[in-house]
Amino acid sequence: MSVHGTEESNVTTSPSAYPVDVLIVGGGIGGLSAAFALAREGLRVRVLEQAREFGEVGAGLQIAPNCTRILHDYGLLDEAKHLGVLPKSMVMRDAVDGSELTRLDLVDLEREYGFPYMVIHRSDLHGIFLRACRRAGVDLITDARVSGYENTVSGARVLLADGRVDKARIVIAADGLHSVARRLLVDDEPVSSSYVAYRAALPIEQVGRDVDLSEVSVHVGPRCHFVRYGLRGGAMLNQVAVFQSPKALAGEEDWGTPDELDDAFAATCPDVQAGIPLMWRDRWWRMFDRDPIMTWGDGGIALLGDAAHPPLQYMAQGAIMAIEDGWVLAKHVAARRAEDGSIDWQGALAAYEAVRPEHCRRVLTTARAWGELWHLDGVARLQRNTLLRARDTYDYSFTDWIYGPTALTPEEEPPMFSPIPLDSVDVSGLADRVEASPVPAEHSPGA
Ligand SMILES: Cc1cc2nc3c(=O)[nH]c(=O)nc-3n(C[C@H](O)[C@H](O)[C@H](O)COP(=O)(O)OP(=O)(O)OC[C@H]3O[C@@H](n4cnc5c(N)ncnc54)[C@H](O)[C@@H]3O)c2cc1C
Repeated sequence: MSVHGTEESNVTTSPSAYPVDVLIVGGGIGGLSAAFALAREGLRVRVLEQAREFGEVGAGLQIAPNCTRILHDYGLLDEAKHLGVLPKSMVMRDAVDGSELTRLDLVDLEREYGFPYMVIHRSDLHGIFLRACRRAGVDLITDARVSGYENTVSGARVLLADGRVDKARIVIAADGLHSVARRLLVDDEPVSSSYVAYRAALPIEQVGRDVDLSEVSVHVGPRCHFVRYGLRGGAMLNQVAVFQSPKALAGEEDWGTPDELDDAFAATCPDVQAGIPLMWRDRWWRMFDRDPIMTWGDGGIALLGDAAHPPLQYMAQGAIMAIEDGWVLAKHVAARRAEDGSIDWQGALAAYEAVRPEHCRRVLTTARAWGELWHLDGVARLQRNTLLRARDTYDYSFTDWIYGPTALTPEEEPPMFSPIPLDSVDVSGLADRVEASPVPAEHSPGA
């Protein structure tokens, strides 16, 4: 992990001790949004991205009010609204019988939280931050894979795979799930969920049937779920099909392959089944997260985004947490800049680390629990359905902790909701519905 280059091999030519104030490793949504946040505070920022070009692979992203609030603060919300879709509702249904379980009225939700719930193509959101970084003068470098990090007396430096060395007062590692920098802090590995995601984003003319694009639709079922919403003003349909891979459970290396996709959704309702043939079958995303960690910094090096807190995606908060990280860090930097321009970096990083890990720990653990709830079978599925149907559409007690303003201090972090235990729901009168379930018995939980 130590840097083997020399000061003389530095890629920069500036005569000052630090040619930039901040080096950011990774030009995903986390890295670019943090770069913009810091550059708009007047800092000199450079991003090092390993790929040949800046870009995003994948399809849609859901952007909740805790993110659109930040986009508004950045002056980027109008551009995002122009490229995205503002759905009117989010509806959760049972994937087996298609019945509605619960809904969010997203028009009312915007009134409640002051900012909209939006869906947007991830390359569009990435492009918004890329253009904003360019306008703000961020130095954007591609073809730069970082393989080592080291603290120095007054800053930090990175070793690139091609032998170059770069340095700055602070290094932010936004290098994603397989973060190299994370190894400075913890000896852990990504945790496989045995679930895999298939995606599709296609022109609406290719869908071949009417789909209600005024809603974000989520079907939850035994060991699978299916998400659908519109993109680019309704010109595109986005779909995500997620299922537990029997091959992963059997310990096979080659898991999550397309032959498993159709089987996984065979017992779902016609509305879900109609979407499955449209999924991309040439690529898929195995779902990994990592256990939460509460230390994100080592001297002048700090983690941000998935490098610090890769979640399972069930809360749709991964990219949002990354964007919040950069916003919080930049606010603390701005608050600790003296009149001569010097910054109390230690104080800023400590304030960042005082608030973000606990929030992200909550999201990571809730995402795991939320995923389990979505994928229930048998009696537990009926209990879940009963609980969700009982929720008042306008009850925000389960979303306040996440959609409210992003906390800058631990004191501002809102309390968590109190989960209602499934066991408290009596479904003995519905026992015949378990018998009648079209899902094969060998697929009961834990089988
Ligand atoms: C199916 C699915 C659906 C999702 N839906 C949502 C959603 O609706 N809402 C939401 O908020 N989130 C969602 N997420 C999560 C979200 O996509 C991620 O949390 C987010 O993109 C993480 O951004 P990041 O910049 O931290 O990491 P990444 O996007 O992984 O970016 C890391 C960047 O660092 C670069 N890099 C890596 N290593 C190096 C190195 N050594 N040197 C230089 N560069 C390097 C990479 O090339 C990459 O560009 C979803 C995820 C999945 C899989």
